[in-house]
Amino acid sequence: MTSANTPHAFWLAGREATGDRTLDVTSPWDGRTVAQVSVPAAAQTEEAVAAAAAVAAEFAATPAHVRAAALDHVGARLAERAEEIARLISAENGKPLKWARGEVGRCRSVFRWAADEARRFNSGTAQRLDTDAGGEGRLALTRRVPRGPVLGIAPFNFPLNLCAHKVAPAIAVGAPIVLKPAPATPLSALFLGELLAETDLPAGSWSVLTVPNDEMPGLVQDERLPIISFTGSAPVGWSILDSVPRKRVTLELGGNGAALVLGDYSSDADLDHAAQRIATFSNYQGGQSCISVQRAVVDASVYDRFLPRLIEAVNAQVTGDPSDPATDVGPLVSEDAARRVESWVDEAAAAGAKILAGGTRDGASYAPTVLENVPPDTRLGCEEVFGPVMSVIRAEDEQHAYRIANDSVYGLQAGVFTRDVQAAFRAHRALEVGGVIIGDVPSYRADQMPYGGVKQSGVGREGVQFAMEDYTYERVMVLTGL
Ligand code: NAD
Repeated sequence: MTSANTPHAFWLAGREATGDRTLDVTSPWDGRTVAQVSVPAAAQTEEAVAAAAAVAAEFAATPAHVRAAALDHVGARLAERAEEIARLISAENGKPLKWARGEVGRCRSVFRWAADEARRFNSGTAQRLDTDAGGEGRLALTRRVPRGPVLGIAPFNFPLNLCAHKVAPAIAVGAPIVLKPAPATPLSALFLGELLAETDLPAGSWSVLTVPNDEMPGLVQDERLPIISFTGSAPVGWSILDSVPRKRVTLELGGNGAALVLGDYSSDADLDHAAQRIATFSNYQGGQSCISVQRAVVDASVYDRFLPRLIEAVNAQVTGDPSDPATDVGPLVSEDAARRVESWVDEAAAAGAKILAGGTRDGASYAPTVLENVPPDTRLGCEEVFGPVMSVIRAEDEQHAYRIANDSVYGLQAGVFTRDVQAAFRAHRALEVGGVIIGDVPSYRADQMPYGGVKQSGVGREGVQFAMEDYTYERVMVLTGL
């Protein structure tokens, strides 16, 4: 292990290494330096990629039970060390402890699912070919084969679980992975490396490299990494895809999620529930989730009863120190991020929006904020705010609510509060998103379900088994003379 006085090591081909530079990891809450992390020299990055390429065939041939056991081990160790890792996430990211604990729990499930899927995967199919003349005595067998090593690139907002989304499916299919965490939050990924190092996975099959952003284009272009799984902002994601159109690229990008409250969701209890869920998931993690609620689209028939409930629920969010288990909303990832959110809210207010709650900044913290009448052409009206800010929009009827929700360049998930099963099907048909959550906010995600966006929100799907399919291709063998 790295001692307290030396920079935190990164993981190069399954072993600890230090490089020629360091980066500071700073707490967004109090500005203290949480750790110094070593940054690989270019030659070390090259060594990790070469090791991944060299071990690819061996790793693909590793028995499923070995890969599944490694995944189970990581899941079990995450359970044993859950509190430690939750506190690490909270320290480096500013995420309130209760949400950090939730992230660790989800991460355990990802590894458990991946272990299960590793055991199930690749049972293959057999197809008779004698359905047409010339196919007599022939049989086609299929097997899914890894495309090659994966380059996984992760953002800051779920610094553990979004790394797991890339690492666990890669191990499950036997594809080596080079993981690149976000510069603001590398410690959770490096912790994951500590658990991977306890397994018997072959050296070279995984690396966790804190490569600086300006050195990433070289890694992205490297032909020894034919798969790129990227989660992050839309501009960076699309520029990656444009730069390597022949690679297999999955992009999990931004959104400006809508929660719709339809007219039938009208009892006092319904409106209390919708207001509570929307207030919570507009603000959880400071709104720094790609599927947080940025727009509440509310049917005119319930609007006036819903709005005061929403304001009350937003004002009841407990803000403050992320290490306090009672805190709902901590700081944003940096003061710069909070200043950007502030400028977007101020711009919308200057253009005629009315601030109904919040609208204030203190250092890196931005108060849970609700606005009405946000002009659609302001940044708040059309871009991803990635802060604890929501606009409330009145919809004349159900179809109008769908049009408002679809009036966005993004399409990740939408939530629809309704008890009408036919409206649920209409919403599912009408909404241009990757997932429609009925009876809840768009922020619901289970890591085994297919997850991803349309429009500028991305391409491809994650979710353990869907990533496994993405990392592999079907290779057919035709048997003749049977
Ligand atoms: P970001 O795009 O700034 O960074 C994401 C990752 O890309 C980081 O590891 C970063 O170091 C790396 N990177 C930066 N420049 C690069 C380059 N030129 N080439 C290759 N890699 C590069 O995003 P962020 O600020 O860390 O995360 C926030 C964004 O992530 C938001 O837009 C959010 O919506 C999105 N996000 C999407 C999902 C999803 O599943 N759809 C989940 C979480 C976050």
